[in-house]
Amino acid sequence: MEGFEVLVLWAVVYCVSVSSVPLNEYKTESQLKHVNITIDTKYSSYITLSDVTADELGQYEGGDMIGHIPEMHNGLVDEKFRWQDGVVPYKIVGNFSLEQLTKIQQAFHTYHNVTDGCIRFVGRTDQHDYIQVKSNPSGCGSNVGRQGGIQVVNLQPPGCLYTPGTIQHEFLHALGFHHEQTRWDRDEYVTISWDYMKHGSEGNFAIHEEDKATGFGFPYDYQSVMHYGSNAFSVNHTADTITPVDPNAKIGQRKGLSDIDIAKLKKMYKCDTK
Ligand SMILES: [Zn+2]
Repeated sequence: MEGFEVLVLWAVVYCVSVSSVPLNEYKTESQLKHVNITIDTKYSSYITLSDVTADELGQYEGGDMIGHIPEMHNGLVDEKFRWQDGVVPYKIVGNFSLEQLTKIQQAFHTYHNVTDGCIRFVGRTDQHDYIQVKSNPSGCGSNVGRQGGIQVVNLQPPGCLYTPGTIQHEFLHALGFHHEQTRWDRDEYVTISWDYMKHGSEGNFAIHEEDKATGFGFPYDYQSVMHYGSNAFSVNHTADTITPVDPNAKIGQRKGLSDIDIAKLKKMYKCDTK
C-alpha cells in the first residue's frame, strides 16, 4: 500500500470512529489535531477507569480495528490474510520510551515462545508487507490480518502499553483474529444488552456466519485476550453490555493470550505441521 493510501485509510478511520462530521470536512492537519484532542480527552477518562480496556474505547471501526472489516470472525478463513511462513516483519516508528519499547519486544517474544518459533516478528529489512508500530494518532488499533504493503499497529502511550494483553491483543488482530464475542455462536455464551450500548457502537457487536470465520474447532473462550470486557461501549461504564451465560465466567482479561488463543493461532498458521 502506498503512503498516500495509508493516509486516506487513517482519515477514514478517524471519521467513522470519532465524529459524525463527514470525511471530506477533515482536510487539514489542524482539523485532524482537533480530532486527536477529542480522543485524548477520552483517554484521560480511561486512566481512571481500570475496568475499561484501552482497545475497547472505540476510536476505530470495530473498537480498535482499522479499515474495512472483512465478514469473517473470529479467525479469518481466507489464507490471503495470513503472513507467509508466520513471519511478521515490523518497523517501530512510534515515539516510545525504553520501557514501552521493551514491552513491545516482550509481546513479540511471547508470540515466538508460545508457538515454538512458528510465529516470528522480525525487524523489517526489504519485505514488501510489514507492520509499522506507531504511537500516534490516538488509540490502540490494528488491521485484521495481513493487508499487503504497509499496515499500522497503533499503540498510543500510555494506555495501550499498560498491560501485556493489550499489546498482544493488537498483534493478534494483525495476525488475523477478530474479537471473540463476534463468533457466530456467541449468543449461546453471552447476552448482549443493546439498551445499555452507546448510540452508534452497535456495529462492534455484530456476529458473522461460521463459513466466513472459524474458531478452528475450539470452543467459545471467555478467557480470550480478544474478548471484550463486560462493560465495553457501555453508556456509563457501569451497566454491562455483555453478560456471560456462565455466572462464574470472567471476560475482558488483558493479562495475555489464553490457551485457546494460542491453540487457534497455531491452527491458523499450521504450526503443528511445520
Ligand atoms: Zn480489538
